[in-house]
Amino acid sequence: MSARFSVVVPVFNEEAVISECYKRLKAVMEETHDEYEIIFVNDGSRDSTKKLIDELCKKDKCVKLIDFSRNFGHQTAITAGMDNSLGQAVVIIDADLQDPPEVIPQMIEKWKEGFDVVYGKRAKRKGESFFKLITAKAFYRVLKSLTSFDIPVDTGDFRLIDRKVCDVMSSLTEKNRYVRGLVSWAGFRQTAVEYVRQERFAGETKYPLKKMLKFALDGITTFSYKPLKLASILGFLLSGFSFLYLLVVIFLKLFTDATVLGWASAMSVILFFNGVILIMLGIMGEYIGRIYEETKNRPLYVIREKKGFDESK
Ligand code: UDP
Ligand code: MG
Repeated sequence: MSARFSVVVPVFNEEAVISECYKRLKAVMEETHDEYEIIFVNDGSRDSTKKLIDELCKKDKCVKLIDFSRNFGHQTAITAGMDNSLGQAVVIIDADLQDPPEVIPQMIEKWKEGFDVVYGKRAKRKGESFFKLITAKAFYRVLKSLTSFDIPVDTGDFRLIDRKVCDVMSSLTEKNRYVRGLVSWAGFRQTAVEYVRQERFAGETKYPLKKMLKFALDGITTFSYKPLKLASILGFLLSGFSFLYLLVVIFLKLFTDATVLGWASAMSVILFFNGVILIMLGIMGEYIGRIYEETKNRPLYVIREKKGFDESK
């Protein structure tokens, strides 16, 4: 079966939102009067998410399921959905309805005008904690200042991409994926549609601090090696200052009586330098760990079951 549009929805423990998500997506996609498929990627949910999608698959041929063998993470789930999609245009959307499906027709409109990537830009974010808003805002700006090409700020994975771009994504083998960065990297004609990010329809965020940190570090380390440069610049600066201070210490020792240096000053220097060294080692570790991940060459994800897909695919 061919489809003009594919909608990819990553889901992880989303039993509270699945039905509503399906209903709203269905209504919007029916309006297009074109063939479409809705691909739910179940990222190792431990609740009844899988069962609910199974039922949807049974009653609606447009619904498809990719069931992961365990939780592989949001970005990987999106990737699996794109890899298995058939549409000439692929829409990526979260299940929690924070990104309103009703924006999709605007994206399709832009795609028909000839754009290859139409990303949703968050003009406003509703119902998210102050901490999340501040950290997200800071993260997008830090990343932008570190990368040499343009990754648009305040933009999530909610977007429409053309088949061409989707194929480029599927040809990339990297393991620590920051999908929105990769889409920007791919180039093509890109444009934005502004929307207001809503509150979660139900349930809680599936992005605890730990996952947020991993996500942010993936974004930074896979698109910039400037943090490594920072290590060498800081190293040079600090050893320069240390050398000057060493000259002062030798001068004081040889030519004055004022060398009874206190414990406090010695301790502060030791603590400061050890702190800096450990931070720099940590930064290097982040890169080395990712190099290690890439070299192992394991598959990006493992699928337990697929439903609704043609045998031929
Ligand atoms: N998600 C996923 N795997 C994960 C975490 C999240 O597939 O390990 C899905 C989740 O079900 C949702 C989307 O990714 O559809 C975005 O997650 P969430 O809404 O919890 O993130 P937030 O909007 O709070 O940043
Ligand atoms: Mg959300």
